Formats: sequence, structure tokens, C-alpha cells
Amino acid sequence: MICLMRRTAPPAQRCVTCGEEHQGLTTVFGPPAPDPWASATDEERNRGGINRDTCVITIDDTTSYVVRGELPIPVRDAATGAFAWSVWVSLSEQNMRTLADRWYDPGRESLPPMFGWLCNELSPYPSTTHLATNVHTRAPGVEGITIHRVAELNRLLRAT
Ligand SMILES: [Zn+2]
Repeated sequence: MICLMRRTAPPAQRCVTCGEEHQGLTTVFGPPAPDPWASATDEERNRGGINRDTCVITIDDTTSYVVRGELPIPVRDAATGAFAWSVWVSLSEQNMRTLADRWYDPGRESLPPMFGWLCNELSPYPSTTHLATNVHTRAPGVEGITIHRVAELNRLLRAT
């Protein structure tokens, strides 16, 4: 399930792709939980926990430590700022402990990037579950999308 996380109202600007003025676009989309949590049984949920930013879930004998982050994609032709996916990424237990210890530390950004597996399907794309990620770094190879693509994603995602 994809839901709206935040809405911004960028200034009206004529799109060079279609000529429309794309207004009131949502610029952050994302699922409210890691997919394994969304499909977990009540018993599995009772043994774990979730809040706005972290999730711990044990399925069979495997415990996953999952953190929410943003995957920003620059919008290259408008003043919208970045478009972002809010996604859940699983970390090692050690890295989750390190992150938890430093959660409120103003110098937290000095932590080295942490490896994580993406824990969500993002519906407009081919399968995204278990894509390798680096938490605290931008996704590699992302070169930005257009305001038209933001509008297209809005049409796709807000229609459901
Ligand atoms: Zn357009």
C-alpha cells in the first residue's frame, strides 16, 4: 500500500513536457510500514513493534530491524525541490543498535553509511523488495525526474 506522506504546493509553472500547470503535487509518497509488517500475523506483531521510524519484527526465528528513510529524487525542471519515496530498509542488529544509541545525537549524520535491504514494493516500478541500499546516502545512479513525472506519479498513486 502506498499512501501520501506530505503535500506541497509548488508555484504554478507551465510544464515543458505537456503544457499543463502541475499544481498541488504530492512530493513524498511511501508505505506506512515495511511490507513484512503489513503482511504479518497478529501474533508476529505482538512479538514485535513499530513506530513512525522504526520497526522490529520476528517471523519464524528471524528478527528484522527496519528503519524508515527517504529516497530523494531531484526534480530537474521545476522549483519543487526533491521528490522522495519514504521507504523502509532493514539493517543489521548491530547497526540498528548503533543508530538507536545515536538517534538524538546532533552529530548523528557523521555515522558511516549503513547497508540495508529495501523492505517495500513501490508499485510503479519493477520489484523493489530486497534492493540493496545505503542508509544516509542517496540512491546510486539517480539523475532526477521531471515535474511531469511527478504529476504522472501523482495520477498513478492518488488514483488508488
Ligand atoms: Zn506535464
